[in-house]
Amino acid sequence: MKSGYDWVRGFHTSVPWCHLVWNTLNLPKTSFICWAIMHCRLLTKDRLIRMGMNVDPLCDICRVCSEDHQHLFVDCSYFLYYFKLLLDSLRLNVQPATVAHWFSNARNVPKLQKRVFGATYVALLYQIWMCRNEARVSQFVRRPEIVVQQVLNGVKLRFQRLNVSKLKHRDSVWFLSL
Ligand SMILES: [Zn+2]
Repeated sequence: MKSGYDWVRGFHTSVPWCHLVWNTLNLPKTSFICWAIMHCRLLTKDRLIRMGMNVDPLCDICRVCSEDHQHLFVDCSYFLYYFKLLLDSLRLNVQPATVAHWFSNARNVPKLQKRVFGATYVALLYQIWMCRNEARVSQFVRRPEIVVQQVLNGVKLRFQRLNVSKLKHRDSVWFLSL
């Protein structure tokens, strides 16, 4: 479990993932869920079972593996598919196991792309948790294409309200093409 969380926690320092959580493009609710994930505070099934509850341990999204934080937000085949769709839309190449490190250290990526990626990634974590809760109740999993488009549209709308008119030409071409 620990090794799986090094990627989000930023290898023994709180700084890298803090920038992900406190990105000004995030909605407060997505920042909060991201913070809870980094601290393993969500009531995932492994935690419910340790608390003595009698629940089915399987991930309600893929129905293949046991559910814990690492599975839902790192290893689940559905998560990996959502993540790939997001990267394809942003035309970025980031390994899921190195997100926090990339966010803090990718020097050759324009700042705007990092901010938009960070906000969409945090929004995606939030949506995965919502999908999991819906699937737990209804056994229905929303289509990844719809979830990722919703995530992108939300971040684009927030950014447009902030300062799209002040972008450099290169950044505005990239942003408007999303
Ligand atoms: Zn799963």
